[in-house]
Amino acid sequence: MINLLSDTVTKPTPGMLRAMWAAEVGDDVFREDPTVNALEAYVAELTGHEAALFCPSGTMANQIALKVHTRPMDEVICDETSHIFQYEVGGYAFHSGIGVNLLRSPNGILEAEQIGAAVKPLYDWLPRSTLCVIENTNNKGGGGCYSLEGLQSIGAMCRDKNLALHLDGARLFNAVVARGYTPRQVGACVDSASLCLSKGLGAPMGTVLTGNAKFIAEARRVRKAMGGGMRQVGYMAAAGLYALQNQVERLEEDHRHARQLAETLVELPWVEGLRPVETNIVIFDLKAPLTPAVFLEKLAEKGIKASAFGPQAIRFVTHLDVPGAMINQTVEVLRRMTF
Ligand SMILES: *Cc1c(COP(=O)(O)O)cnc(C)c1O
Repeated sequence: MINLLSDTVTKPTPGMLRAMWAAEVGDDVFREDPTVNALEAYVAELTGHEAALFCPSGTMANQIALKVHTRPMDEVICDETSHIFQYEVGGYAFHSGIGVNLLRSPNGILEAEQIGAAVKPLYDWLPRSTLCVIENTNNKGGGGCYSLEGLQSIGAMCRDKNLALHLDGARLFNAVVARGYTPRQVGACVDSASLCLSKGLGAPMGTVLTGNAKFIAEARRVRKAMGGGMRQVGYMAAAGLYALQNQVERLEEDHRHARQLAETLVELPWVEGLRPVETNIVIFDLKAPLTPAVFLEKLAEKGIKASAFGPQAIRFVTHLDVPGAMINQTVEVLRRMTF
């Protein structure tokens, strides 16, 4: 089976399993898990933020950030493709009682000016714009990255407009590897960030939320209220630390594999068009009348899994459990497909 559904399907590598096995643990609700403490300190240092908090999922980390940065009746400014709007069950309304102010942009990459222009004036009848959320890389937009200059302009705009700025960095390390900036340079642009360990980095679970000490102190309380206080979770933190120390640079390989798939797809007569491929996500449209259902079924017969991503669109995601040989095999299968 070649699984291109998502980079969340990755399994722990042997080295990661050894690190988990060897982890020292304690009760993290009492802050007595040395491995969780080490992970939080490591990621805080990496991003240049004062503190960090290990959360069970990216969704929880984002939802905590929304809750801590806002009050009910506020609104969050974000792209219409953003994960917090599309895939978190409307949690912004449920947990935080806030609205969304949706922006539209090419491939989910926002410009500072459009964020500034979206901030509402302070009238009694308007929601208060207090937070902006950006996504790097952007998932639904096709894995595109912000430039460092773009992030810096957005950071400056948000400071100027009194907006808190949260980075949904579920795949920040893909952007770091693709663009050559550091997590610390990105950290300097934003007030908080959520970094997933369970995507391309290959850990079984976990997202680290970063920010200043006051933000993280409050985030710890909200995490507990959401039921996310965990006990001997150092086994999972050990997997995350191992991933950060050993499995970041190899993301370049996933990007190369994505480019290889893209180069194959553009040549095929049944492919209508391809989004720009910058990291590990490949999104393309099928030429009508070919539908995703028919295409995916035929692909599955060849032992390859992928997902539909719109009425005509298909998404492939490359990751560490799809080595080069499997990519070559996928290329061969795609070239032989006829409709
Ligand atoms: C995967 C993802 C998340 C978090 O997802 P969980 O499955 O809750 O860990 C958040 N933002 C983006 C952009 C993602 O791709």
